[in-house]
Amino acid sequence: MLSSLVSSHPCPHRLSFTLPLRPSRPPLFLHPRPRLCFGACHANQPFNRDSTASLALSQSGPQSRPPLATLKIAIIGFGNYGQFLAKAFSQQGHTVFAHSRTDYSSIATSLDNTTFFKDPHDLCESHPDVVLLCTSILSAEKVLRSIPIQRLRRSTLFADVLSVKEFPRSIFLDLLPPDFDILCTHPMFGPESGKYGWNGLPFVYDKVRIGDSHEREVRCEAFLEIFRKEGCRMIDMSCKEHDEIAAESQFLTHTVGRVLAEMGLRPTRNYSQGYDTLFQLIENTCSDSFELYNGLFMYNKNSTDLLDRIYAAYEEVKKDIRGMVQGILRRRLYGTTGIKELEDRVARCEAFLESFNKEMPEHDENASGIHFVALTIGMILSKLGLKPTSIATKGYETLLKLVEDTSSESFDLYIALFMHIKNSNELLDQLDVSLANVRKTLYGRLHDILRRQLFDQPGINNVYN
Ligand code: NAP
Repeated sequence: MLSSLVSSHPCPHRLSFTLPLRPSRPPLFLHPRPRLCFGACHANQPFNRDSTASLALSQSGPQSRPPLATLKIAIIGFGNYGQFLAKAFSQQGHTVFAHSRTDYSSIATSLDNTTFFKDPHDLCESHPDVVLLCTSILSAEKVLRSIPIQRLRRSTLFADVLSVKEFPRSIFLDLLPPDFDILCTHPMFGPESGKYGWNGLPFVYDKVRIGDSHEREVRCEAFLEIFRKEGCRMIDMSCKEHDEIAAESQFLTHTVGRVLAEMGLRPTRNYSQGYDTLFQLIENTCSDSFELYNGLFMYNKNSTDLLDRIYAAYEEVKKDIRGMVQGILRRRLYGTTGIKELEDRVARCEAFLESFNKEMPEHDENASGIHFVALTIGMILSKLGLKPTSIATKGYETLLKLVEDTSSESFDLYIALFMHIKNSNELLDQLDVSLANVRKTLYGRLHDILRRQLFDQPGINNVYN
């Protein structure tokens, strides 16, 4: 079969990507793989006969660098994230075809090598090499079903960037014909966390189904190469493992960010460097759509349990504070040791606040309040027993750092801060309300979706319109 792929070409080692109508498999490479030509004269060979995309292949031995290629990539779902990725794709010289529910023609025009297709039929007839699903998690199935896949070449590679992985894997396997290749990916960064480049940021991928041919492997590698080239930390991991490790940590990170935002926490002018990352977390999570957060909630089977655990941990923290304060007061009322203990505490509190003042000479009540809230969140997270993961987002790393910082500050200091700050009780109440609001919104959406599914528009396809 390989000879049929290369025979039309003057150089027997060059690959044409026109696949036979029914790729017989196995085996393409019963014989050693042909050495692929590389060098200037071969740099712009057609990726396939009816494609204008070009391919420059490097040697394909196991030690060699992955092949380089320019691809035609169709981004389906050209919202916030689709546009963010399109910029990098086009800057690397790839051709981008975009399609979305909303008309983003003018945005596409402002990017290099990018064309917006209002009609998905036209897009599919342009025969992209890769179709990248970039829609919200909740709309993914409906959108996938709406793509006129019969107009694509049958060997097309389907990929996705959804923040959960088992779900897209399963709809791809269910809805795509067996000739199509499937690559599930999760770039674990967004327009905020990746705005200064993607170097070192995790990129998780699972080659769910790549046809048994060198060309298909090359195409898949060419797509992965885009992220490798940007310096991403490439992690080959199954969708199942991804969801076990990442879904929970992501949902937790987004929940903390949203609860803090709900409290209206804003940085003060003289804000401590140490908590910059906390504000970045609020910014990062809240610049993502609520749809994304809702998707993480709905497609993570542990999310309801996790919300309950956050609540329980928070109740424990409050109980600890009250227990401590009540204990001091009791001793204060019934004996002199109480007074001494209280004085010691006040002295320690003042020393602590002095260092705090040095760090923020003009610190105000808002700043102490922020510090107190951050420590409270740190206490809650400590009780949840967070663990480092190999695929932590920047946001999750912030939470881990918060836990570390909190554990280095003693509970005594936390109580001192609680007593020092006039409105600390109010802040705890606000945290209560914010947590409840976030939970209420999530369950409200869930209820709404199920109600519509049951009563208004039966059929899963219409549920997320
Ligand atoms: P999102 O709210 O999750 O998705 C927005 C996209 O979904 C838009 O393209 C929107 O199309 C489309 N969409 C939403 N509802 C739709 C419906 N009913 N029918 C058709 N299309 C619909 O926000 P996002 O940040 O752009 O994320 C896109 C995907 O990337 C998600 O799956 C997310 O999990 C993943 N991801 C995001 C990040 C991030 O940091 N943002 C990071 C990694 C992965 P229109 O704009 O045309 O309405």
